[in-house]
Amino acid sequence: MNILVVGSGAREHALCWAITTSALTDQLYCAPGNAGIAQVANCLAVGVDDTPGLLAACADHAIDFVVVGPEGPLVSGLADAVEKAGIKVFGPSAAAANLEGSKGFMKDLCGKYRIPTAAYGRFTNAIPAKDFIATTGAPVVVKADGLAAGKGVIIAETVSDAHAAVDDILGGQFGDAGAELVIEEFMEGEEASLFALCDGTNVLPMAGAQDHKRVGDGDVGPNTGGMGAYSPAPVLDAAMAERVMAEIIRPTVAAMTAEGRPYKGVLYAGLMITADGPMLIEYNVRFGDPETQVLMARLDSDLVPALMACADGGLDKITLDWKDDAALCVVMAANGYPGAYDKGSVINNLGDADAQADVTVFHAGTTNNDGATISTGGRVLGVTALGSTIAVAQQKAYAAVDTINWPGGFCRRDIGWRAIDS
Ligand code: AMP
Repeated sequence: MNILVVGSGAREHALCWAITTSALTDQLYCAPGNAGIAQVANCLAVGVDDTPGLLAACADHAIDFVVVGPEGPLVSGLADAVEKAGIKVFGPSAAAANLEGSKGFMKDLCGKYRIPTAAYGRFTNAIPAKDFIATTGAPVVVKADGLAAGKGVIIAETVSDAHAAVDDILGGQFGDAGAELVIEEFMEGEEASLFALCDGTNVLPMAGAQDHKRVGDGDVGPNTGGMGAYSPAPVLDAAMAERVMAEIIRPTVAAMTAEGRPYKGVLYAGLMITADGPMLIEYNVRFGDPETQVLMARLDSDLVPALMACADGGLDKITLDWKDDAALCVVMAANGYPGAYDKGSVINNLGDADAQADVTVFHAGTTNNDGATISTGGRVLGVTALGSTIAVAQQKAYAAVDTINWPGGFCRRDIGWRAIDS
């Protein structure tokens, strides 16, 4: 079977790395890919938002199965377009991807089907939004309704900060994504993510993971796309994972079917484990980045039949095995990230890091220039290691990080601290 993975991040590198080992894979392509992905797949110079270009690439390369990485094309209907062209696809329809595309839609669904999540209101006008904030007090969470590249969530510590967030978002800070607001009660607890594959009817839980969103050690500073992750997540033990499946994920999949939007693909639940039990923070309709890097490192089964069952049905006949080892991923980003960052610096000694036992270096923002690996900025590498415990995986990952010679980049030095200290 010829498979096309859509995307260019370390998440897609990890997916390609897993897919390339499948007995079902003949040729593996990635659009557009990066320098690391080029080592395991044929990269095609087609952007993730170029639906006609992707369909043409499918025809040119006799693609049988398309695996979509990022949320943007899913919310815009790429899975529908691929399916309409008669090609199997891993990823939800636009109607189902609305779970991530509209936070208000997700919250209304939870309200209707009694799925535990923070109390909320939806607003398109500042005056009722501020009246609502007067009832919640601070801290309170103000969110742009639509996709805002992970930046549309403001945790307001004071009422005046919340008012400013309302004015900024409705004033156009995030463009159309902020035409509507969701304002939520602030939940306290520990965050974790659980991933589940869905075929519209059946749900197969994958492993849990925890990530670090803030740029600085100790989880301080601005939010990022994610500076590191580890799996398993100690806060999501087997009993808690089963509660999340029973109280949140299975009811959501049933609700989506009842609403005429059957969910097929991976459902990524962002959770707050509170004193009262698990609560849903948000849904994502694709794999997480950097969580996918640690999930793929731990996966001990062929990924492709599971992804195909999401499209074809029959997920109830699939089992996935996971290594007992823990995995930990340290993200290396270009200096300046998540603000304006440097581009074009040379990264040396990657091969030495990758050659270390139990280590895989997944690429995100890289390109190849005459054999040299060049940073294209943002999050650039995901240095991922397996170990008998999270502490051992952490030690191996940082040993590999320290082998890489890249003055143009940085990383946090404390990925996994919560799991290791507890
Ligand atoms: P989201 O993009 O919705 O996942 O939000 C980004 C981050 O904001 C989450 O990972 C949480 O750390 C935080 N967050 C979002 N909603 C809430 C909430 N209702 N209570 C507490 N923290 C939240």
